Amino acid sequence: GHPVYRDMPTTIFEKMSARARETGAINLGQGFPEGPGPRDVLQAAAAALLNQSSQYPPMPGLIELRTALAGHYARHQGLNLSPQDIIVTSGATEALSASLLALVRPGDEVLMLAPLYDAYVPLVERAGGIPKIVTLTAPEWHITRAALEAAITPRTRILLINNPVNPTGVVMRPTELALLADLCVAHDLTAICDEVWEETVYDGQPHRPLIGFPGMRDRTVKIGSAGKIFSVTGWKVGWMCAAPALATLLARAHQYLTFTTPPNLQWAVAEGLGWPDDWLVDQRATYQASRDRLAAGLEKAGYAVLSSGATWFLSIDLPASGIALDDVSFCERLIDEAGVAAIPLSAFYPTDPATHLVRLCFAKTDATLDRAIERLAAFR
Ligand code: PMP
Ligand code: GLN
Repeated sequence: GHPVYRDMPTTIFEKMSARARETGAINLGQGFPEGPGPRDVLQAAAAALLNQSSQYPPMPGLIELRTALAGHYARHQGLNLSPQDIIVTSGATEALSASLLALVRPGDEVLMLAPLYDAYVPLVERAGGIPKIVTLTAPEWHITRAALEAAITPRTRILLINNPVNPTGVVMRPTELALLADLCVAHDLTAICDEVWEETVYDGQPHRPLIGFPGMRDRTVKIGSAGKIFSVTGWKVGWMCAAPALATLLARAHQYLTFTTPPNLQWAVAEGLGWPDDWLVDQRATYQASRDRLAAGLEKAGYAVLSSGATWFLSIDLPASGIALDDVSFCERLIDEAGVAAIPLSAFYPTDPATHLVRLCFAKTDATLDRAIERLAAFR
């Protein structure tokens, strides 16, 4: 029957974090950086709280923030967005909800790629959409035309993707993005592209926004999050970017969901986006070093680590590590017996889960990573 929230479980992120809080385990499960976030952006938020209005900001967001975002995307991704194309939301989560509520009509099929972020399927279903899922395979997670075309029907209206990808750390290849763009144009699909990990891409790779591909400017919703860019996941400042016809529809949904987002946080994000970009380069280098530290430590301890080119996550392959447990059992035992919280990748598959991979968050201090590595080494 029609899916209802009563039948949905508590998310794996909350479950694992709650258990980590109760037991004092090192939490490499839910994705959040260990530090407080850049001092300057915290100070900007504090100053704005004291010096700016705390009353409702404009429904689409402060013009200062929308202008700063347009500038950021022009400099970093070569995009030509106007502030009017951008709507500020309460986190990327609200942007996803608003996009789906605005664009999905009951019975529309929404094409997605698994593994996928856990919010997608419940949101699509509650919007009345029908999930059509193409499952990708480790370790390359290649996207192929044949698999996508097999899943597209005359009722397919939306492509919902996440790039770079949580949980795999995949940065979609230019050929794959071109293929997705091609299919959207050929089948008249609207793309919702969740790009919250756009500033956590490593090894000198660029981020390539789907909205910049031929034919996509007027049919793409690009979603971002300050929580990820500024390493402040609790802030819940996000946004959606789209051409005027789409943006008008998105604003309709946003006005009835949250209407606005706390103004002091919007001011702080606007200020931070205006800084010279060196700090973002430094932040990327720091996360990349953390990724390499955790990967090297785990490999030394005998774990098989999948390569990750982005996000705050890497995965270990259990059978390739000589471990005979499935991902859920491994995570259960790891938190109880070793005091480390992790996330089983099967949580990212609505159907046909891969059960041999476990996600670990590396956005932690060296000391925390080293303690976690010690515990993981002793556990096996
Ligand atoms: N999409 C993806 C792929 C994510 O990883 C996250 C955060 N974990 C979100 C959306 C939600 O972002 P926010 O916290 O800004 O709502
Ligand atoms: N995006 C975070 C992750 O993947 C979790 C967000 C949440 O707790 N819902 O770990």
